[in-house]
Amino acid sequence: MKKNMRRMIADIEREVEYTSHLIGKHVLDPRVMKAMEEVPREVFVPGSMMHFAFENGPLPIGYGQTISQPYIVALMSDLLQTQDDHVVLEIGTGSGYQTAILSRLVRQVYSIEVVRELGETSAGRLKDLGYTNVECRIGNGYAGWPEHAPYNGIIVTAAATHIPQSLIDQLVTGGHLVIPVGEPYEAQELIVVTRGEGDHIDVREILGVAFVPMQEEVDDAD
Ligand code: SAH
Repeated sequence: MKKNMRRMIADIEREVEYTSHLIGKHVLDPRVMKAMEEVPREVFVPGSMMHFAFENGPLPIGYGQTISQPYIVALMSDLLQTQDDHVVLEIGTGSGYQTAILSRLVRQVYSIEVVRELGETSAGRLKDLGYTNVECRIGNGYAGWPEHAPYNGIIVTAAATHIPQSLIDQLVTGGHLVIPVGEPYEAQELIVVTRGEGDHIDVREILGVAFVPMQEEVDDAD
């Protein structure tokens, strides 16, 4: 492992330990940490940000959006409780970094991005890098992607004001939705919703986070 990658992994491990009272564990799934080591974060950040690629913080990717902090990417991937044969949906492709991590953890990733330029750039980048088990689409992901449902897990990488029922409906029984919920630019909570039998859902608040807002009205892009 290169030195800067080793530092990023150590920073994530330290923050996991530091937040263990909130997240209920001292280490994340080793499969997730292996994926974090394997995916080169530097190719997902703008050239001008390359020097900061291995810092444990978010970075701007243009269009008012950000690539999430490595610790948060690792934590959300862990909370999804993925298995090799899973199919997952991501809302908010952004840079494609989280998408690439997920592609190492499951059989198939579907990802939706509402900003066309970001979605097209990331889809091309993922393809060039050989992440073949990923399908990207431009559009508003608020209503999910019903054609490929149900999903073993759904991850939303932008903050919603409430938990979208449309996404819960696209989970398998026992599947998890990992989503930041709260008012834009105010305190948000990272939440895990687990779909139970029938209409039953289990909602677990994990910790406070800061995400760019999710576009909730489905009115364009498609
Ligand atoms: N996982 C990404 C996070 C990017 S920021 C990364 O680490 O790079 C969140 C992304 O969600 C932005 O690119 C934003 O355009 C997108 N987004 C916001 N609302 C959306 C919606 N309703 N459907 C699809 N994408 C959305």
